[in-house]
Amino acid sequence: MDDAPRRTVPIKLNMPSDCEADFHHTKDQFLNCANQTSDWAWRYDDYCITSKAKAEKALYDDLKAEHDLTANLVQKGIRRAIEAVDAGVEKLKEGEKTSQPVFDSWSVVYDKRSATFNADHATLSTVNGRVKADYVLPLEDEREETPFGRYYESDEWDASSATLQYDEHSEDFYLHVTLKNPNYEVDGIERQEATSREEGTENGVVLGVDLNVTGAFAVTSTGKFIGSADYLTHKRNELEKRRGRLQQTGTRSSHLTIQRIGSRFSDWSLDWLHNRVNELLEEAERVNADGVIFENLKHIRENIANGSKFQQWAYAKFVEIAEYKIEDRDLFVDFVSPAYTSQRCSCCGFTHEDNRDDKTFACQKCGYEVNADYNAAKNIAVRYCGYIHRGQKSRGGWAACQSALKSGTLNVNGEFNASAV
Ligand SMILES: [Zn+2]
Repeated sequence: MDDAPRRTVPIKLNMPSDCEADFHHTKDQFLNCANQTSDWAWRYDDYCITSKAKAEKALYDDLKAEHDLTANLVQKGIRRAIEAVDAGVEKLKEGEKTSQPVFDSWSVVYDKRSATFNADHATLSTVNGRVKADYVLPLEDEREETPFGRYYESDEWDASSATLQYDEHSEDFYLHVTLKNPNYEVDGIERQEATSREEGTENGVVLGVDLNVTGAFAVTSTGKFIGSADYLTHKRNELEKRRGRLQQTGTRSSHLTIQRIGSRFSDWSLDWLHNRVNELLEEAERVNADGVIFENLKHIRENIANGSKFQQWAYAKFVEIAEYKIEDRDLFVDFVSPAYTSQRCSCCGFTHEDNRDDKTFACQKCGYEVNADYNAAKNIAVRYCGYIHRGQKSRGGWAACQSALKSGTLNVNGEFNASAV
């Protein structure tokens, strides 16, 4: 690993619509390579293979033959899995609970052998050959201020790899390009970090999080959708059905089985929640957030009053795990009052119950349309900044506050800063 400084610049793609299916197939095959590798490498909790060379030797030929991917993407799939297994083994060594990595979120990893990074487009390998994808560029006169202008277009930063991602809600593709700068002055970095730490005491950045009973389990103010609440409910319902059948059987052995599957399920759901919290904290780290803001728990309970005890447990546990995990990080968890976060337009502030229809938010005043949970998450972050602006002491100790949004930060005066994330 070289330790050249890195920046990641997210770039929205204008994907040719007749190629979208190729990318979805590429993603399926890529994740399949990673999952097969994970199956192979994760043998028992105390015996896992963490050597990339060993994994490639054992798996590459078969995986290459079974998939339509280029050699490079097959290798990338194997390596991605081995890195995750390795991270899992590290956790086990620390005595933390973890389980075999599963790759189910939409992503494909590219490097210079499987992609080219050009001024206004990239070419990317797919199961169906190379595809050219145009960038949606920031406006010309604002570009200098954007990560795209500062890093992607700079001669000093060099695009070395990228992750292709897909937003299922907006149906947009994003390329998160990682750039390296081998000549970046080490002194310079330290100075820069020191300054931002100092500023951090004055001006914090918070990530808003909306929790839900249907759709995505958690949605952040930066537009990240974490886990599926529907999936969690589905798993729980399966357990209930099985329990019901066993209860009807009524034998002693069926009673023991009920106990066993019950405790296996609670292990599984705790693991699942831990992994979702990790995704949330990764996002917080990615956007350099200082605080993670939820709606207060009492509301979470009311909001899901129609939901099951299990769902109430899951949300409380999720927040509890988040609070526990941030203890050794430079982060805090805090809460806002939930009133109207789902009805308020995060764009113009207009609040009306007609703005929200299930998962769709459409502002009756300014016409802003967006996923309703994402809108709520932005309101949660903005509301917290309002508290700080009006003098409430923040847990981070600063006097001003910015909300972390998809491509930058927004302060209470409505000034938007694009940021390198
Ligand atoms: Zn509006």
